[in-house]
Amino acid sequence: MNEYDSELVRSILKKENYEFVTDERAADIVMLNTCAIREHAHRKVYGRVHTIRHTRGKASPVMIGILGCMATNLRQELFEDRTLKIDFIAGPDSYKRLPQLIREASDEGQKSYDVTLSEFETYSDIYPDAQDRANPSTASRVNAWIAVMRGCNNFCTFCVVPYTRGRERSRSPENVVDEVRRLSAEGFKQVTLLGQNVNSYRHDDYDFAYLMDEVSKVEGIERIRFTSPHPKDFPDRFLDLMASNPKICKHIHLPLQAGNNRILDMMNRTYTKEEFLTLVEKVRAKIPNVALTTDIIVGFPTETDEEFEDTLQVVKKAQFDSAFNFKYSERQGTVASKKYPDDVPEAIKTERIMCLNEVQKEITYQKNRAHIGEIQSVLLEPYPEAKNTNQMPGRTDGGKLVILPLGPYKGGDLVKVRITDATPHALKGQPV
Ligand code: SF4
Repeated sequence: MNEYDSELVRSILKKENYEFVTDERAADIVMLNTCAIREHAHRKVYGRVHTIRHTRGKASPVMIGILGCMATNLRQELFEDRTLKIDFIAGPDSYKRLPQLIREASDEGQKSYDVTLSEFETYSDIYPDAQDRANPSTASRVNAWIAVMRGCNNFCTFCVVPYTRGRERSRSPENVVDEVRRLSAEGFKQVTLLGQNVNSYRHDDYDFAYLMDEVSKVEGIERIRFTSPHPKDFPDRFLDLMASNPKICKHIHLPLQAGNNRILDMMNRTYTKEEFLTLVEKVRAKIPNVALTTDIIVGFPTETDEEFEDTLQVVKKAQFDSAFNFKYSERQGTVASKKYPDDVPEAIKTERIMCLNEVQKEITYQKNRAHIGEIQSVLLEPYPEAKNTNQMPGRTDGGKLVILPLGPYKGGDLVKVRITDATPHALKGQPV
């Protein structure tokens, strides 16, 4: 979402004749588009600002602006920290005001900010600056992000998103389809529909299934992905569409977060482990070749060893293709930070995440090995120039990374590939 938002910011500022440079040392203004979802991302921003200030020194001053979720929930703290010397701050719903905020900060020398959350802003009137989405030198445009809804109404107790990005609102289907048509005309082969809660998409009477169906009718677009959905919003109609529509990739990222019912309840996830596993079964029954991935948090406040064991059991039963596992980190302003002391010791969190990673690694490895011998349709990604390699990366319909030898093909091509080998991290293949 932040990559997409950065494209919106580029578009907004280019209209005002700002020029974008790739070398930070040549910039008069540096903006960091931040994430507040985890402590690590948060710390990185502080480190980055200090590095920029240090590198540029007094001889070559630079204005620094903070955008994104950290801007919303840490405005005070960011301005008060004198070592950072932040000039302006814009929250995720305030990017149209950036030209004015920059003017105020540079002409009048005052610190400027706007972190107002909007009930309506979807940036549907801004076409993101697609020029920078793919490396123009490779002339290959593969995937384009497109935010179809913003915000979240779910208030999971660990999550800061409802406070930093506000309530759910969706763009109209016509507006989304128009953007997809432009992307197709520019040569993009795949679109990924984005939203904090993407399958809660609703505009008047139109739901997410309707939107996906309409997007799939756009000529030239070969693949459609979406992220991130919530397990509560998977009506049969949507799963049937996924199963029958060849353009909709057979991959669902289905965040589990925890496999114990008491913890799920404390997290306000609105499902039990049994309901989650029933959904997994239903998805697999309707879409037999689907790839399922997930997010899991270990060490949520008060989580016991037995409760963590429940999570391991659900992971073993669900057989996810891969998982993003995180140690719980308290986020300022969330319900959990107010109600539940972060009482699981760091060493226990580390032990649990290592154990979970090991279990998942073996499942992923076995799942990857099961593809050996199959012929898969692989969408090639841009050649990774910086790496100077003789290999080419691509993705299967299920989103798995496949490594191919270099050949007479380029990023954006759909190639039939025989899977010849597998590791826990990727598949290897030969074009057929
Ligand atoms: S559904 Fe996702 S974005 Fe919304 S509160 Fe829960 S974790 Fe955060």
